[in-house]
Amino acid sequence: MSVIGIDFGNEGCYVAAARSGGIETLANDYSLRATPSFVAFDGKKRIIGVAAKNQQVTNMKNTVGGFKRLLGRKFNDPHVQHELKSIPARVEPRSDGSIGIKVNYLNEDQHFSPEQLTAMLFTKLKETSAAAMQTQVNDCVITCPIFFTNAERQALLDAAQIAGLNVLRLMNETTATALAYGFYKNELFEDKPRNVIFVDFGHSALQVSACVFTKGKLKMLASSWDQIGGRDIDLALAEHFTKEFLERYKINAKSNARANVRLLAEIEKLKKQMSANSTKLPLNIECFLDDIDVSSSMQRSQMEELCAPILQRVEQTFKKLLVESKLSLDDIHSVEIVGGSTRIPAVKQLIEQVFNKPASTTLNQDEAVSRGAALQCAIMSPAVRVREFGVTDIQNYAVKVLWEGDGTSSSGEVEIFPQFHPSPFSRLVTIARKSPFVASIVYGQPVPYPDQTIGTWKIKDVKPTERGESQDVKLKVRINLNGIVLISSAVLVDRKEQEETAAANEMATDEKAAGGEQAGPNAGEQAEAQPEGNDKTKKKTKKDIELPMEPITHGFEPAVLSGYAQQEAKMIGNDQKETERIDAKNALEEFVYDMRNKLHGGPLERYVVESDRESIVAQLNDLENWLYEDGEDCDRETYTSRLTALLQKTDPIKQRAHDYEQCPAAFEELKNCI
Ligand code: ATP
Ligand code: MG
Repeated sequence: MSVIGIDFGNEGCYVAAARSGGIETLANDYSLRATPSFVAFDGKKRIIGVAAKNQQVTNMKNTVGGFKRLLGRKFNDPHVQHELKSIPARVEPRSDGSIGIKVNYLNEDQHFSPEQLTAMLFTKLKETSAAAMQTQVNDCVITCPIFFTNAERQALLDAAQIAGLNVLRLMNETTATALAYGFYKNELFEDKPRNVIFVDFGHSALQVSACVFTKGKLKMLASSWDQIGGRDIDLALAEHFTKEFLERYKINAKSNARANVRLLAEIEKLKKQMSANSTKLPLNIECFLDDIDVSSSMQRSQMEELCAPILQRVEQTFKKLLVESKLSLDDIHSVEIVGGSTRIPAVKQLIEQVFNKPASTTLNQDEAVSRGAALQCAIMSPAVRVREFGVTDIQNYAVKVLWEGDGTSSSGEVEIFPQFHPSPFSRLVTIARKSPFVASIVYGQPVPYPDQTIGTWKIKDVKPTERGESQDVKLKVRINLNGIVLISSAVLVDRKEQEETAAANEMATDEKAAGGEQAGPNAGEQAEAQPEGNDKTKKKTKKDIELPMEPITHGFEPAVLSGYAQQEAKMIGNDQKETERIDAKNALEEFVYDMRNKLHGGPLERYVVESDRESIVAQLNDLENWLYEDGEDCDRETYTSRLTALLQKTDPIKQRAHDYEQCPAAFEELKNCI
């Protein structure tokens, strides 16, 4: 049994596993810990991770990266349109407005959704884990950016389901980092709480969170973020070099997708060097465009100038967190940094400037997110035994519940969760109604998603009392462990019964719901609160009647999802068949070379008569030629049957050699007899 944590980054993924000995970041088939978030296709198979990124320049149109930021969105979304500028693959709107990424796979054009591409990447990570752990993956925790909205979170869960992963929790990236920090420092929080700021500056996002640690638990306090990352720095530098090359060489890097990708790759290398070195550094690309070699250089100070607007946004995000968390500088114990772009010296300087503390590198900058996720998975999964550590996250956006009016009662709304409300959590809203109605959950503040609505729930079977009066409908609004907001149940409460239990409920309520009294003009509308995992409010009275609901919210319909899961399974099967085919071809090729060497001046030469040897070697030569010509692209059976035919001829020779080595005396005797 194995439990894993997945950090699904825009640029690369990390997987960590929890074992009884501790947390371990797993290496992939290239012995690398980072698996690029790239998926590619060709006539025979899918190519995922390191291999996909490696072949990008030669297979531009069928190589896709950067799909993390397309999850749960529609083609026309301005955010998607912006992202598509940096995705060279062909992307089209589908009839329902969703995103179809068009690639040539198995020699035909096929469309995949961002969720399917994510699932493909997850399949690869699952295989990496299974290979490294020598066991199947059962449970996992996957991380996502703090600013992910409901639609994006649900899309990520859908992707995991397509890949057959059992997600115990979708965890905010900085929360996972906080757990990776706090879990092993528990004894340090015994005397007094410790406030720590976590800064994650990655490829596509900057996330900053404040967290308080007390013994055995952590509580997130507030977050701030901006959708800027290392890639924006690369683009700013690319803009500069493109202009320079246009002037000096009269070539336009933007006119050619391949040249653009190569330029960005070289810029990224240069950027990383500039983090360690403040002197002037070269940038050279051979045969860049029109066979022209280009060369230039840059110095760190120049990069900082070009990226001034980005650095300004970084500073603003830091300052915003100070305001949101209400922490004074003295309250902050340390500022821990993770994410590749926090290696940039100017970012570290800004941290020191704003928080009045040097950036602290207690954590592994690349692996902390996945390690925290693996820890969370171990805490939650029965498969691994590990000490408890409580994690209280936050809801990063304010959430409102709205309900429509009917003939006798008017509509209303209440802010059910203010921004940074603890999560997971449930609250009850009571609405007086005589007939079925629709309740909606919407964001109570602007979110980086075009639609503010989280979902609508049709509450059915609501009837007036026998005396024709309205009844109380209690809606349970929940932020679950995945940070997804939903109405989890609706019950019809008997008024009389409710009054009897009211006093007890008040006592059990941990927090008075904000806005409860302003819940609407209708008498009897009120809200109650329940932190999850602490379900101490009343048991349902006998007269509570569970009402059926018809939700319309984000995510694929179950039938669509299972269709995608079947398609994924089929593609996995196809990839496996292709791997077996290539392995069979390689095995035959290897055998041809090896046997020829052994028969030709090698250890088997003396165990075969000359004429047989010549005929076998001739057959091996023919096979070698065949492998490069007609046999280049055959099915597995063809290769294995050729190998079997060869083995029938060579096995007796090997057997003779083996027998002789085991018992040379017997051979001498035999020779004498002959
Ligand atoms: P995200 O968190 O935005 O989804 P990610 O997790 O894939 O993306 P990271 O792996 O944290 O991102 O960081 C990758 C980014 O960090 C890239 O833009 C990379 O160029 C940048 N980076 C890595 N090392 C350095 C360095 N030494 N100096 C500057 N930038 C660096
Ligand atoms: Mg990241």
